[in-house]
Amino acid sequence: MQENLSVNQEGHLCVGGADTTTLASRYGTPLYVMDEGRIRQNCRRLKQSIEHFYENGGMVLYASKAFSCKEIYRIVKEEGLGVDVVSGGELYTALAAGFPAEHIYFHGNNKTPAELAMALENHVGHIVADNLYELETLSSLAASSNTVMPVLLRIKPGIDAHTHDFIRTGQIDSKFGFALETGEAEEAFKKALSLPGIQLTGIHCHIGSQIFDIEPFEHAAQVMLQFAQDMYRRSGFMIQELNLGGGFGICYLPSDDPTALEKYMERVAEVVKRFCEDKAIPIPHICIEPGRSIVGDAGVTLYTVGTVKQIPGIRTYVSVDGGMTDNPRYILYGSDYEIVCANKADQTKDSIVTVAGRCCESGDLLQENTPLQQTAPGDILAVLCTGAYNYSMASNYNRVPRPAVVMVKDGVDRLIVRRESYDDLLRNDI
Ligand SMILES: *Cc1c(COP(=O)(O)O)cnc(C)c1O
Repeated sequence: MQENLSVNQEGHLCVGGADTTTLASRYGTPLYVMDEGRIRQNCRRLKQSIEHFYENGGMVLYASKAFSCKEIYRIVKEEGLGVDVVSGGELYTALAAGFPAEHIYFHGNNKTPAELAMALENHVGHIVADNLYELETLSSLAASSNTVMPVLLRIKPGIDAHTHDFIRTGQIDSKFGFALETGEAEEAFKKALSLPGIQLTGIHCHIGSQIFDIEPFEHAAQVMLQFAQDMYRRSGFMIQELNLGGGFGICYLPSDDPTALEKYMERVAEVVKRFCEDKAIPIPHICIEPGRSIVGDAGVTLYTVGTVKQIPGIRTYVSVDGGMTDNPRYILYGSDYEIVCANKADQTKDSIVTVAGRCCESGDLLQENTPLQQTAPGDILAVLCTGAYNYSMASNYNRVPRPAVVMVKDGVDRLIVRRESYDDLLRNDI
């Protein structure tokens, strides 16, 4: 088990020093629990390693789509990170939490004119432009309000990152960004240099998510720098900033063996420095955008077991009071998770079960054929490593209210997002 998880004398699972069964009875289930110590530790590891390996300057931007609520923006602000947002809603949340606008990067493949105007009005630090239509819209909005917006261009470096098809975004057949092969990226580069209201500062790529190998990141850095150098030769403009995206894999199962964050940073920094030295170009300011690797392993979701259905010779369904509404990742991607019976965490996992949610969908499962302690109605199940893309992907399907989020720090818990009530579900109904 990872170091912020433990089992106490009563045999209960603890997160960040807090007994999960106590949290479940205090706040009810389903419940998202986030460990502040782990989040801060992840922020520091990333920040320290980028500062260590890029002496000329680098910055960590938290990809806030992984987990977005006011408290997380306050924490990453205190840790000295920037953030990226991908919608007006994430931007609104960040600003409402007092996050400094100049350290916000705005992403997305289809930002609306209203979202671009919102970014301009609030003096967001950078917009990462995805397409020519966006560049033109942004230019006219910026010029008409007499402002100049710093812009990065999202490039598709054409990297196959050996990950799940749905979370692979760096190749040519992707809805994100400008393609290199077709000359589209070059056209965008020249356009960005010539359009009023736009100040081109750099280029960006993000090659996918939950990537365990270093090679795709090294390859992407090389392709991006090659493009920067080509553009420098042809246009005379050298980028100041290279944003290499996120996607660092984390450990969902004990058998997962992701590369240490520091190792990624070291190897990619070597590639960057060698390239710039060979080609005699200045080393750009380097940004990375981790999401999952900041919040993923800081989260645990707690559920109460309801019915246990044994189908002889087929399988056993253990049903819980949440499911695809609070964690749609299994139904979306077949994602792996480790599950523990929180009130029997000291017992051996001697059964193999399917953990099912409560929704009217046969696919509403949290995990199939997973080892688990013998469970009975009333037990508390903990799904581990749910800090990323769980709360932020939650829905109200079947009119299930979204769970509360509790933050734990050194054994002390506090509520950071209230549980939705039935009245919340009716709030917008007319
Ligand atoms: C999703 C995303 C990230 C973060 O990805 P992780 O796998 O959570 O690290 C970073 N940058 C962009 C542009 C993204 O879309």
